Parts: sequence; C-alpha cells; structure tokens
Amino acid sequence: MLPLIPMVNDIKMENQQTTFSNYTFEYDTNIMQAVQQFQAELKEKLNVNQRAFCYVFQFILETKFAKQQYKIEITKECCKVYAKSKVGFYYATRTLAQLLNVKIGEKVDTLTLPCMTINDRPRFKFRSFMIDEVRHFFGKEEIKKIIDLMADLKFNYFHWHLSDDQGFRINFKEFDRLQPIAAKRARTKINAITGNDYEEKEYHYWYEESDIKEIIAYAKAKYIEIIPEIDMPGHTTALVAAYNELHCLHHPVEVETGFGVFSEIVCPSKSTTYDFFKKLLKALCRLFKSSHYIHIGGDEVDAKTWAQCPDCQKKMQDLHLHEAKELQQYFMQEMVAYVQSLNKKVICWHDGIYASSHPEVIMQYWTWQMDQPKIQLINQGRSTIYSPCSQFYFNDPYAELPLKTTYCKKIRFEGLNRTGLSHIIGIEGCIWTEWIDSCELLETLILPRLEALAEKGWTKQKNLNFKDFLNRLERHYPVLENMHFSYTPTKIALSANKKNREKISKAFRDNDKKVEFKRYLRWKKKHQNEKTEAMKKL
Ligand SMILES: [Zn+2]
Repeated sequence: MLPLIPMVNDIKMENQQTTFSNYTFEYDTNIMQAVQQFQAELKEKLNVNQRAFCYVFQFILETKFAKQQYKIEITKECCKVYAKSKVGFYYATRTLAQLLNVKIGEKVDTLTLPCMTINDRPRFKFRSFMIDEVRHFFGKEEIKKIIDLMADLKFNYFHWHLSDDQGFRINFKEFDRLQPIAAKRARTKINAITGNDYEEKEYHYWYEESDIKEIIAYAKAKYIEIIPEIDMPGHTTALVAAYNELHCLHHPVEVETGFGVFSEIVCPSKSTTYDFFKKLLKALCRLFKSSHYIHIGGDEVDAKTWAQCPDCQKKMQDLHLHEAKELQQYFMQEMVAYVQSLNKKVICWHDGIYASSHPEVIMQYWTWQMDQPKIQLINQGRSTIYSPCSQFYFNDPYAELPLKTTYCKKIRFEGLNRTGLSHIIGIEGCIWTEWIDSCELLETLILPRLEALAEKGWTKQKNLNFKDFLNRLERHYPVLENMHFSYTPTKIALSANKKNREKISKAFRDNDKKVEFKRYLRWKKKHQNEKTEAMKKL
C-alpha cells in the first residue's frame, strides 16, 4: 500500500525498488522554489554517503501538460519528473515526499523508492479550505501550521473569513475604528445558542497588515493562494458598531456577543455605506495584491432595519424595487462591479447570487437544501464552488457528520445535469468556529476530514476507495503527530450512531460536541500512554 493522500490518479508499478544513499538534483533554476522544500526534506532524512552511487532527480519541462499536471518515472538509476509549471513540479515533490519510506523523525543511511510511473492531475482545479477567525481567533502560527498540511495535501486555496457580526480582524490603518472597536467584543456566548451563558471576558484579536502579508507570502511559497472574505451587507454588526453612520437608524449598536443571524447590519441605501465599502475593498485588494479572488459574502441578510429606514424605503421607490431581496441584489451588484474594476474575481455565497448577477461571479453553494433556482443557474453555466454543509462543514461533530459522509457522498445535486456538473470548478471545506475555542478542538474537527476533502478534490471518482483511504490514514497519523497536530482517531471519526446523531441534531449541538471532544481526550490519554510504553520497550 502506497502511503499517498490524496491518492494519485494513474499509477504503473514495477516489481522492484531503488535504494540510494547519495543523490543530486538537476533542474532549471527558475523552478528552484518548487523543488527546494523536497531538497530540504531529503537532507533531513538521509545521512548522505558522498562515495556512494549518486541517484539523480531530474526535473524536465513538459509544455504539453496542464498547469497542475505532473508525471514521475522512478527507475533504479534516476527519478524523472515532468511538469509544465512550478506548481506541477511542486505537486510531484509532495507525492515523492510521501513515497519516501522513512519512519517519521528518523534519519537513515539509505532511502528507498518503489520503481513506478505516476501520471497525475487533479479532478478539480480549485481545492480549498475555509477557517472562520471571527467567532474565534487562532492566530498566525496556527494558520501557518494548517497551511503546511494543506500544501502537503495539494490544496491550492485558503479561504479566510475575517469579518462578521462578532468582529473584524484586520487593522487597516486608514480605518481608525476597526482595531479599537470592531475587533473587540465584550463577552462571548458559551454552552448553547438558545441559552444565556457567556464567558464574561473581553475578546479582542486582530491581524496587523504585516501579519497578513507574512501569511500571504508563506502560503504563496507553498502554492496556496489566499481568498480573503469581507461579508456584506449581512453579518456586519461589528462594522456598524464601529461606524454607526452605516446603520439604517443610527441607534447605538455593540459588536455581537452571541451567534446566529442578526439584523443590526449596514444600510444598503446611504451613499456613506457605498463609499465605506469601496474604500474597504480597495484596502483589501491592495493588501491581498497577489490574490485573484475576493469573497464578498452576500449570505443570510435579516433586513428588519431596512424596513424601518427612510433611506431604504426611498431607494426602493426610486429603483422600483418591491422586496428587501432586490435591494440586497442592487447593493451586491454595485460591490461586484467595484471589485471587478480592481481586477479581482468575485466569489459570493449562493444566497447573494441572482439570475442577474454578473456572469463571472462565482457562486459558493453551502446549504443542505437543494435550491432549485440556484441549481438551474449552475446548469446554465454559473461557475460554482461546492461546499454543502451536510458534507463539508467540519464544525459539526463526527456523530452528526461522520467521515464516511464527507468521503463517500458524491459531488452532485439533484437536478444538476451533465453541463451543470462541468461548471463545478471545485470544492471547499469550511469550519465555522462559534463553539470552537481552542486550537486543539479546531484540529480534531478538521483532521482527518481535511484529508478526505483533499482526496475528494484531487482523486477522480472512479479511483476513490474509502476502505483503502482508511488504511492509508493509519500511515498518515504519525505525520500529523510529527507536525504536532491533534486529530480525531478513525474509530471516533466513523462514529455515526443513530441514537447519538438524533440527540446531537437537537438544539444543543455545542454541548454534544463537547461530549465527543471528551471522548477524544480519553483516547488521547490512552494513546499517549501506549506510546510511552512502546518507547520504554525499545
Ligand atoms: Zn437603510
């Protein structure tokens, strides 16, 4: 069994292997960035014997390939890697790194590779993962750590949710009320969404522009592009708390401390709102200069305050609009046009997409219900990112969303035809962090779902095999431990038991999540004891 995740798409095994204790690299200097991580990994694993036979890793340009495609030929004498682009070479090295048969953390005198030919390219060109750092904040080092793993799993996008009702996480210098007001909430709801329990502690976290630039560069070196998200016009309570002039009725608003959908949001009818968001989007596009995509939300608008606002009523009359939904549509069109004028592509949650939305705006489909008019739009050609919460929302406990569902459920909707399917440009996993208050809990909910997601995005449907994936996961867990990740072991990740699931589906999901986390903590203690015992025996 080859220890590969995601599994490669085409492989021809020879019945032999190559062993070496000395090696050299041959490549064109302009692809240096793509191979240097692999060079460092080899150096870390092998005690080189300079006098031994020198195995050659040869990197060869193949212009006929697709951008993310690569080919590896491993023979006794050399390893030839073919690709068209740096990212193609990088993916080849991620495969090679996983193939090196070395115990994690060990330095050896000889390395072994199985002789074979791999021809590989991803099923989807877009493979992404989203973290909400508003409800809870995890910080620069945690984000980098997750980016490291995402790169090894051949993801190419990281969607970063940075604004919401409960906070705004970037300190743009030209907005002097973001960091002191919008980045801070007085307390945080705990235990249950319907309850009244709070942690009475100020929650004040933000990224400086320099932190963000550091993370962009870090991800870029690993061929991951960041998609920043500023949600609008809904989910903007933190912004109206800081900039009350954006509010329909100008009554005082505080940064939200609970969770859900709220009506204290920006007014889509005042010119100040348009000026504010254009300035904000301009600052965002400047900061994320190298990003091709900007996410502007568009989801879950509660328009209660709009109905009471004289400006909104006038605007609707002037534009002959009848529903709040149409006013939202008008606002989103203006913002889309502005972001496009800054040479960025726009992504919106599917609630913010209409038949009249600009044809190039990408729709991110997220609900559990099949929204037939939206599926119609996909069939008609709307580029779509597939991230239904019933499969790819990793905040749900495993008892409710077991690993098997994430891996095995087919990527398609009822009503989606063959043409529609071809407009799904990729997939994304999301983690919303209302109840996720530590890096350890975050990691146990992500892992090993991220691995399943990586394989769904890379490996063709016909090559997916859940049983085989579970076997490969066992070989992958030590890699996670070596990277200091917490992960949920397979037996808990598979634990969909009907009784448990029904209980969890009730309102107090958060408390049940803690039950599952406690199970993980018990497993961790046992696992660590077993490891210590095994170490003693050595
Ligand atoms: Zn208004």
